Amino acid sequence: MNMEKSVNIDWSTIGFSYRKTDYRYLSYWKDGKWDDGKLTEDNMLHISESSTALHYGQQCFEGMKAYRRKDGRIQLFRPDRNAARMQNSCRRILMSEFPIDRFIEAVKKVVKANAHYVPPYGTGATLYIRPLIIGIGDNIGVRPAPEYIFTVFCMPVGPYFKGGMAPINFIVTDYDRAAPFGTGAAKVGGNYAASLLPHEEAVKKGFADCIYLDPATHTKLEEVGAANFFGITKDNKFVTPDSPSILPSITRESLTVLAKDFLDMKVEERDIYIDEIDEFVEAGACGTAAVITPIGGIEYKGKLHVFHSQTEVGPITKKLYDTLVGIQFGDIEGPEGWIDLVE
Ligand SMILES: *Cc1c(COP(=O)(O)O)cnc(C)c1O
Repeated sequence: MNMEKSVNIDWSTIGFSYRKTDYRYLSYWKDGKWDDGKLTEDNMLHISESSTALHYGQQCFEGMKAYRRKDGRIQLFRPDRNAARMQNSCRRILMSEFPIDRFIEAVKKVVKANAHYVPPYGTGATLYIRPLIIGIGDNIGVRPAPEYIFTVFCMPVGPYFKGGMAPINFIVTDYDRAAPFGTGAAKVGGNYAASLLPHEEAVKKGFADCIYLDPATHTKLEEVGAANFFGITKDNKFVTPDSPSILPSITRESLTVLAKDFLDMKVEERDIYIDEIDEFVEAGACGTAAVITPIGGIEYKGKLHVFHSQTEVGPITKKLYDTLVGIQFGDIEGPEGWIDLVE
């Protein structure tokens, strides 16, 4: 018997904006250990004005989703990868790591407690989940915080492309989002603060977002806004950049497996020179929010380079998207260990 509460939400118009749901998970780290953690209804954090998260950017986050299957059950997609990546982010900025099994358990608790907010199968909408670790406590010197909060909250979000997937254009920026051996590979807020201005300038010029080149030489393609890049070559290779300043996307890692094992393509992780993007017949940006954003064109030095088409999604991009989304919603059986049922 399904005892879920119901909510009155128009799933077709929710978009991607904050909405307070009923419960979030909260755990405190103090005196060398995490406490037991609990669900709470309060969505406000009460922290010291001297918290390192506020002054020195000592914080990191994750982004993941819960999906409603056709049979009504709810599932997560590779939550262990998010948990491990968050530990990696913590190590880079000297924060206390949250254990992987407890991370997954906390996410499941939050999803279960807010199950009535998980959109119905077939709407394309999902429950977006935001885990977060912040440095808190009394401190003013530049040093790691004496205390931490790990929290997980969630909200229903609509499909990124309301009218179906459509190609969009990007422009190469002169700004960097991260330094060569800086924090680019950690999912920390500072990288996002650094991206706000380049993003705004790209939008003012009529583009969806900007493309970052490698910060050392500005010759190689790195990230597409807050998503990873991939290109499909004429001879059917899936190519994606390799760099220590790219945030390792779980969507991209998954796409490389699907390209190899489901679409029988060759996969290359290597340098992609911005002068050589002619080799690609299709290109896309990938990340949890939109899954795949087909790239119509990239403007570089005043010239727009068009890939497959400005209006139509390329066939390989479409196949990769359909396969991944099929796995995420439970319609297609994915590789072992990718799906974690919430209940
Ligand atoms: C989160 C993020 C991505 C996408 O990662 P996914 O795990 O696929 O959601 C890509 N680039 C940046 C900079 C990110 O922060």
